[in-house]
Amino acid sequence: MKKYIAMGIALLLAKGYSAEILESKVHKDLSFIRHPNRKWVEPRYTSSGDKILDVAIIGGGQTGLTMAFSLIQHNVNNILVFDENRENCAGSWINIGRMKTLRTPKSTTGPDLGIPVLSVQSWYSEKYGEDAWEKLDYIPRLAWHDYLNWYRRVLHLPVQFESTIGPLHWNQEEKCFSFVVRNKHTEETLFARKVILAVGLEGSGEWMVPDFVRQNVSKELYSQAVYPIPPEKLMGKKVGILGAGPNAFDLSLVASQAGAKSITMFSKRDKLVNLHCFKWGEFAGFMKCFTDLSDEDKYKFIARMHEMGQPPIPSCVSSAYNLPNFQIHFSSPWKNAYQNGDRVIIETDQGDYEFDFLILATGWICDLTKRKELVNFCDSIATWEDRYEPPASQKYEKLMKFPYLNRGFQFVEKEPGEAPFLNALFNMTGGGLLSNGFCAGTGLTGMKYSIDLVMHEIVKQLFLEDTDIIYNSLDTYNIEDFYN
Ligand SMILES: Cc1cc2nc3c(=O)[nH]c(=O)nc-3n(C[C@H](O)[C@H](O)[C@H](O)COP(=O)(O)OP(=O)(O)OC[C@H]3O[C@@H](n4cnc5c(N)ncnc54)[C@H](O)[C@@H]3O)c2cc1C
Repeated sequence: MKKYIAMGIALLLAKGYSAEILESKVHKDLSFIRHPNRKWVEPRYTSSGDKILDVAIIGGGQTGLTMAFSLIQHNVNNILVFDENRENCAGSWINIGRMKTLRTPKSTTGPDLGIPVLSVQSWYSEKYGEDAWEKLDYIPRLAWHDYLNWYRRVLHLPVQFESTIGPLHWNQEEKCFSFVVRNKHTEETLFARKVILAVGLEGSGEWMVPDFVRQNVSKELYSQAVYPIPPEKLMGKKVGILGAGPNAFDLSLVASQAGAKSITMFSKRDKLVNLHCFKWGEFAGFMKCFTDLSDEDKYKFIARMHEMGQPPIPSCVSSAYNLPNFQIHFSSPWKNAYQNGDRVIIETDQGDYEFDFLILATGWICDLTKRKELVNFCDSIATWEDRYEPPASQKYEKLMKFPYLNRGFQFVEKEPGEAPFLNALFNMTGGGLLSNGFCAGTGLTGMKYSIDLVMHEIVKQLFLEDTDIIYNSLDTYNIEDFYN
């Protein structure tokens, strides 16, 4: 027994030691590429002396963290990241995801910004061994979450947790945004020249629940697939799931584990989607240069992807199909729902069905009016509806509501001159898909190139806004290389 305890302690110590080695390697490697390591953004204060952040990042998931690291790499250090969750609990992986592994290939990069020692492979191999990495098929979801926490800690990223950001205001006099940061005990008003919304895939709108469910069914009897569902709501119950994408299959397994009596899935399509158009798009040309396409071509590509849909994970499909109490109805979109006592009746073209609990695996929609951060501006923000008329055969209401973003992911004003400050507000959510293609907000695949686009725009704006100050610093430059 003593021998095993000693071995355990030795292993733990060995692991602690390798974590330290990795951390010091990170700092050493970063020191090799630090040039030009010079502060260059002039600090700003409001007329009453409050500090103005250069950049505020709302959301401390992988996008917010990576943006923060990239800004620091550009010596834009006067920044803060805000996340509403507790420390170590930010982001979708722990709050929303139910799947065992990520859906993206383990070779995907992003947060590392091309620095090998910061890659998930480097971290995972150091923590669990290279063999363990080789054996992995996909990265376990919670390991990815741990990696992001490690990334934040090792890079000393400035994240303020348990801090919710409400409506943004534009302060014309001070030429910056102001916003209230709320945590459990305090409220504080802060100021920032630039704001990045890194509030998730659904962060330009919300997770979708059909109106007829929202209006006709008690909240006790349904849940969007991304929200936690207490097991007792599923145990022994007849569960109806709308949707047949990846989330729907994840949730059918969640329902089964919770002891559901039956699980019935409904798809609007006549068979499962089995083509992964996001996988098709994983090549440098599409990912890096989508933003250079004409509006017509941008719309054409994304509309086609919209039509193709997202396939479920094959292993989840086979697990669900093997459940004795699982069935799926194709070509059966829900037409209506109404409550009958503590049951819900669903109407489809194929007939009516009765359930104890509904799960809506219906994805997300863009609707800027749903975002608390944007209540003061959403009427002035251009959407695709305001800028582009697609062919009638491909006019999808869902796509027309996407924000029409600039190349650097800035919002665009609906009417020229109406809200020029929107150029300083960056949208790094799933809403970037139609304007700029795969991006950090839509998933890891798009992170690599989209971060560069935003970073170029932010650094450009900070530089151009201060040209006079920067010129003056050249004009008065007096550090002599040698004495004459
Ligand atoms: C079920 C599911 C599975 C997915 N699987 C994959 C996958 O395998 N691979 C992949 O690449 N992508 C996947 N995605 C997409 C995934 O959402 C993104 O890749 C990833 O979460 C994006 O990270 P993010 O930092 O942009 O957003 P998030 O991880 O969602 O982080 C946003 C953070 O902002 C916080 N926040 C929001 N509003 C405020 C506010 N007003 N104030 C303060 N904080 C706020 C949120 O609480 C959250 O912590 C999946 C999505 C879902 C829903």
